[in-house]
Amino acid sequence: MKNNNKIIAANWKMNGSEELMKEFSQLTRSKHNDIIICPPFTLLDSAKTLLPNFIKIGAQNCSEEEKGAFTGEISASMLQEKSVSHVLIGHSERRRLFQETDDLIFKKVEAAIKSKLTPIVCIGETLSEKEANKTLQVLDSQITGSLAKIEPNKQVIVAYEPVWAIGTGLTPDENEIKETHLYIKTKLNQHFNTDIPILYGGSANSENCSQIISIDNVGGLLVGGASLKKHDFNAICNC
Ligand code: PEP
Repeated sequence: MKNNNKIIAANWKMNGSEELMKEFSQLTRSKHNDIIICPPFTLLDSAKTLLPNFIKIGAQNCSEEEKGAFTGEISASMLQEKSVSHVLIGHSERRRLFQETDDLIFKKVEAAIKSKLTPIVCIGETLSEKEANKTLQVLDSQITGSLAKIEPNKQVIVAYEPVWAIGTGLTPDENEIKETHLYIKTKLNQHFNTDIPILYGGSANSENCSQIISIDNVGGLLVGGASLKKHDFNAICNC
């Protein structure tokens, strides 16, 4: 059965505190959107204790390895033990700052699925790629590189995040979002036989969320900056 709920995912990045988590314990839900909060690893325990039950807990990254001599890394199975249900993979900051390639992202997606986590795989073009009219080409190669070898019956979530829209206050216009989401949907449908939600991410906030979320093939939002303010995030969760 098709699930018409929208997914609202919060990416706290390297931000947040026990105090903030306590504030977020007061989040309310008036609509039936699925809410996922991805705090830093160190706040996963407090997320479990403090957040209301309707909120799912996500992580921001996982290792492609299962265990062993990988100092500083955290495996998908360790996250699963912490009641994590989702994990962001291939965020543009990880691609750019930590040199994550589509091949590595594919391995992380596989590791997440093996540990029964739902990966939220981030894709999106940079400003120079957009200006060179390469957006669809970039999306095509990121999807092929990170998802084409995943079994077609697996459940994943894709987040389309134009890199130039992240943290800048800029968003694509409605037609651009429509075009990219349709392109991604069509490409995913050629491979997967499950319905893959496609989130939009990049400067989503409490003012633009209702409009963005109503665009065809937008399955929800991935929210960075605005997910750190309780009032704003609460409004987005209920948009
Ligand atoms: C993000 O980094 O995933 C993101 C969407 O950030 P922001 O909402 O701040 O643009």
